[in-house]
Amino acid sequence: MNHFTEKVNPEDPSEPLLVATGLPDELRGSLVKFGATDIGNKVYQQFIKDGATATFTEVTTATDPDLQVAWRVGFNGNPNEIHYTRNISAWKAAPYTKRPGDEIQSATLGSLIAHEFGHTRSGLAAIGIRQNTFKLSVDEPRASALFENSYRAKYNMPIKRTYRKENDVLNFRSGN
Ligand SMILES: [Zn+2]
Repeated sequence: MNHFTEKVNPEDPSEPLLVATGLPDELRGSLVKFGATDIGNKVYQQFIKDGATATFTEVTTATDPDLQVAWRVGFNGNPNEIHYTRNISAWKAAPYTKRPGDEIQSATLGSLIAHEFGHTRSGLAAIGIRQNTFKLSVDEPRASALFENSYRAKYNMPIKRTYRKENDVLNFRSGN
């Protein structure tokens, strides 16, 4: 596992520096909880099978005031890299479109990490998908239904029903 933190670049504030940092305890705890779910266990096995390394890059409001880069996969071209933030409350307060049933307010670091694994190359391979389709209408309900909601169900959190349009997650039926 690799972990980086975006830090302010004194020479160019628009281009943050990536600094190698230790895995924060909070993230470690969420990863352990994800690994205890059925899908999490499958995903970790797939990473091992692939000889792949999960990379976590933490963004903070110091370099990204609206945390726009948090919760993205492959942002730097690495299909097993997850950009995330521990500052969930600031992320929830950011001016994104909110929809009924999207369960943004109930999200935790663990549920968000579980969701992002559903966009990683090895996470997709764990459910038999070899290529990310880059179709938001498929990718997002799939990551929400098969990864995030498995985590939510295990830890008695409300189920996410909606990502982009009402009940698209609830109605998701296929692994493709
Ligand atoms: Zn997503």
